[in-house]
Amino acid sequence: MKKLVWILVLFLSALLGGADSAPVDWGSVFDILPNPRAFQEVTTIWESYGDYIQRVEVRDGDVAFLVDKTWIYYRDGRLLSERNLHNSHRYDSLFTEYDRTGPVEKLPRGRRLPRSRDLLYAMLGRTESQVREHCVAFTFLNHEVNVNRIAAHALRQIEREIYAAAGSDPEVRAFIRDLSVIYSFHRKNVKGSRTLSFHAYGLALDLIPKSYNNLHANWTWSRTYKRYWYRIPMEDRWSPPAAVMNAFKRNGFIWGGDWIRFDCVHFEYRPEIAFTRGSSDPPDWMAGTASYFLIK
Ligand SMILES: [Zn+2]
Repeated sequence: MKKLVWILVLFLSALLGGADSAPVDWGSVFDILPNPRAFQEVTTIWESYGDYIQRVEVRDGDVAFLVDKTWIYYRDGRLLSERNLHNSHRYDSLFTEYDRTGPVEKLPRGRRLPRSRDLLYAMLGRTESQVREHCVAFTFLNHEVNVNRIAAHALRQIEREIYAAAGSDPEVRAFIRDLSVIYSFHRKNVKGSRTLSFHAYGLALDLIPKSYNNLHANWTWSRTYKRYWYRIPMEDRWSPPAAVMNAFKRNGFIWGGDWIRFDCVHFEYRPEIAFTRGSSDPPDWMAGTASYFLIK
């Protein structure tokens, strides 16, 4: 439904040359962005988080999103508040694919730039109680979860796809049966860092099985007894069945098992990455939209 509204807004604003009442002036947004990829990134943010975005417009040469009285600037995919704009070189784009490699021969050198959390802060707040207000509790694969409203719709779709796959795939049935616990909203840091985990926003799930069958599941456990833990081949690492993985990835989640510092039980909601991955293959929801034709 929202896709239809979006397409309507796009064509109406193009037709009217951007009427004042429209939340997005796509004409001027398109004009200022350097390439179709940037336009795709901007439209993906709008499509993914549009419920929280009141306006999209060009401000001081940047595309900016108005989120609850705070302007968040696109700035090459970094999504920064006005306060952080002058520090933009200290941040990486939200869209940069990282650690999507599986086993590597050597660990990459150097520190990775952080991704700004300004968009999340503007949408959800900074404190645990503010974030909690955006969370909803429901049953997912027979387990109680507490997740952010932003991701709840996607999770219900994922569950439908997993149950559909279970009909013909015994591996999926066994996976559901052998789930021991699912961790969701939980205030904690990323292991070994002071950055809040996506669990702290209700935007991540850990699907913990009753047994890992002696396979590797998390780099922090494996490194205690395996010096070259990052070389462990995929077949020696635990992973959910392919159909489960695909259901998550199709619906805006990325998988922690793809990271060099692998966390195979972990899925987190990053539609901006999941939906812009591989610019040659735009996501289904974009079919018929202006950016789809640009990318094709
Ligand atoms: Zn996790």
